[in-house]
Amino acid sequence: MAEMDQPLLVIGAGLCGSLLALRLAQRGHRVLLHERRPDPRIGPVVGGRSINLALSNRGLKALGMVGLEGAIRPECIPMTGRMVHPLGGQAVLAPYSGRSGEYINSVSRGGLNALLLEAAERHPNITLRFESDCLEVDLGQAKAVFQNAGGGKETVEAGAIFGTDGAGSAVRRSMLGQTNALLFNYSQQFLSHGYKELHIPPAEDGGFRIEQHALHIWPRGTYMVIALPNMDGSFTVTVFLPFEGDNSFTELATPEQVLAFFQKQFPDLVPHMPDLAGDFLKNPTGSLGTVKCYPWQAYGKTLLLGDAAHAIVPFYGQGMNASFEDVSELDGLLDEHGSDWPTIFKTFQQRRKPDTDAIADLAVDNFYEMRDHVANPQFMRKRRLETLLEQHFPTYFSKYSLVTFREDVPYAQAMRQGRDQDAFLMDYCAQDDQTDWDLADVYGRLKTVVNS
Ligand code: FAD
Repeated sequence: MAEMDQPLLVIGAGLCGSLLALRLAQRGHRVLLHERRPDPRIGPVVGGRSINLALSNRGLKALGMVGLEGAIRPECIPMTGRMVHPLGGQAVLAPYSGRSGEYINSVSRGGLNALLLEAAERHPNITLRFESDCLEVDLGQAKAVFQNAGGGKETVEAGAIFGTDGAGSAVRRSMLGQTNALLFNYSQQFLSHGYKELHIPPAEDGGFRIEQHALHIWPRGTYMVIALPNMDGSFTVTVFLPFEGDNSFTELATPEQVLAFFQKQFPDLVPHMPDLAGDFLKNPTGSLGTVKCYPWQAYGKTLLLGDAAHAIVPFYGQGMNASFEDVSELDGLLDEHGSDWPTIFKTFQQRRKPDTDAIADLAVDNFYEMRDHVANPQFMRKRRLETLLEQHFPTYFSKYSLVTFREDVPYAQAMRQGRDQDAFLMDYCAQDDQTDWDLADVYGRLKTVVNS
């Protein structure tokens, strides 16, 4: 158990911060958890991020660590594969894995955050404050200035500060203010595409209008639509379009233009979306970007985690999973180093950075894969072959499986091995449009590629 000296301050009670606060409290630390927004469990949720998310093994492992995996499982809808909807063709389910029991889970962001906040609030070591907006951090002194809803300011002192305040982090901004002293590197890269969320309501009998246990994709080259199921029978639909140019968010400006575009490109989707044009014109458009920075720690007193340290685009469904994994990784270091924060922070950033860089790059790759390649015959052959390999050889894991289902394999290793496998298999499937593959031969050759 940790000494009950100065409390630790966690800034941002989103997914990462509420999990982190809970874990630190379970280890005996006193924790102050400050969140800018009002309590999302009371009144309307302040929007801005996706309504539902894909939760997979790395995230589940971290939830298991704090004893909440059992509570979230019943709130999850398993998605066993991608249901690809080609234009003018039959929808096809491409399983995520050849092994049964490997699937991702659609879960409500608000529901998951509420579960974590409730557990945090119940813990006697945590003091939770909403409507407390961090303005700046004195990184060397571990002091942070907050503004409350009435405009009043307060300074909070802590033993150490954890910045889990998301992609637009105020804690990171304070580090940017000391670029030279910290040798702070920072980059932010936006995609030229943005996203907008739409809605498929439940069927009249309360059931699902399209297959429940799949992540649906309508890939159309420069744009794409996806849909994830919700517990009430509805789907949250996300449309990804360029900001500018043909069929962009800028160009689709009237109900007629929106309906004409969807009827032409997504005719099977339109009958399921009675409020399509209204929602499209009313709902906000979000931008998508990758934030990389380093160092994540300052003076052994302050550490960034989650999106504040490494915001990524959502196309691998790993941003939250990676942020939760940050907490599991940090927890391992607490076993090794107790409350020696300078050592813990330095070791954490050194070990973790290559992995979050890898998932950031994989997520951008997957944007192009989902939008351009999933309906490509060579790519589809390769996915079929990989599924067969996974069915026949329990030790074969595709890149997707390594990232998604192997929480014991670091992202950087999953990326290296997965890319080698992909290069070999894409090549193999380009030369051979047969599907009566000699699986043992392919597997043997793959092993050589990966081990070389
Ligand atoms: P956040 O969830 O953003 O939480 C940050 C918190 O800090 C918020 O509560 C915020 O109000 C608070 N805060 C901000 N500034 C301050 C301040 N100054 N003072 C105090 N508090 C502050 N990930 C997946 O794993 N699977 C998916 O399927 C998936 N889909 C996604 C779809 C979309 C469209 C997007 C945009 C993201 C998706 N993600 C997904 C990524 C995921 O949402 C993030 O990685 C995750 O939310 C990161 O958690 P976080 O706690 O670090 O940040």
